Amino acid sequence: SLPTIYLITPTYDRIEQRAELTRLYYTLLHVPNIHWILVEDSDRKTDKVRRFLANCQIPYTHLNVATPEQLKLKSSDPNWLKPRGVLQRNAGLTWIRSSLDKQTNRGVVYFADDDNTYSVELFEEMRSTKKVSVWPVGMVGGLRYESPICDRNSVTGWEVYFKPDRPFPIDMAGFAVNLQLFFDHPSAWFSNNVQRGYQESTILKLLDVTMADLEPRAEKCTKILVWHTRTEKYKIKNEAKLKLKRGKGTNPNIEI
Ligand code: UDP
Ligand code: MN
Repeated sequence: SLPTIYLITPTYDRIEQRAELTRLYYTLLHVPNIHWILVEDSDRKTDKVRRFLANCQIPYTHLNVATPEQLKLKSSDPNWLKPRGVLQRNAGLTWIRSSLDKQTNRGVVYFADDDNTYSVELFEEMRSTKKVSVWPVGMVGGLRYESPICDRNSVTGWEVYFKPDRPFPIDMAGFAVNLQLFFDHPSAWFSNNVQRGYQESTILKLLDVTMADLEPRAEKCTKILVWHTRTEKYKIKNEAKLKLKRGKGTNPNIEI
């Protein structure tokens, strides 16, 4: 049978959340043998996500863990100020290590943020990952794309501008890891105490990955199959005005 793709997705409550999750879900519906681990950044599982998952026709696991207040981004903060999704990805890894069986489960782990855009083809590229597979990511790092540089079937360098001296200058969306590596390296975790841009390098280092282990995918890293899209923050600016004008805003019982 096909190895299972375990997708770890951090997500948080915001106006755009259900739109992002709906779009991602409809992509995942096209992918066989997938298990979606959706991890809410909250003290409790929200009814919004519960209801959303109740209608999902793919295998999923619903988890939650809150980012501590002092590490949480304010909506006025620039995104890069603090790490995002760290404890949530770790909660996904804890679930994987405790719920799956090292001997019998064959699979691949991918960290899929809820706002990126994924081609269905990407998942078939990563499914055959022996250790770590890599590919380019569109619209990231201030370039058109960032990419590993490949010579035949190995990675020899990186096409990046931002902090090129990182051990692995790659976006979270640009690699997948064989499930076995997480069993073989039980202390590999993400961390809130690393420099900006070092999440990916941190986990790959702790998994004992070297450049020689990297397996280029997407036609030797020449095809863009994932885009680091970011949704514009929606401003609800007219609800108060509507309320003034006619005594009530829109129906609060309608979930957006
Ligand atoms: N995220 C989260 N809590 C937050 C902010 C973000 O769980 O307070 C999640 C978000 O839903 C996404 C991932 O962490 O799946 C990365 O966040 P974002 O897309 O904002 O980061 P960027 O695209 O700027 O790297
Ligand atoms: Mn994002």
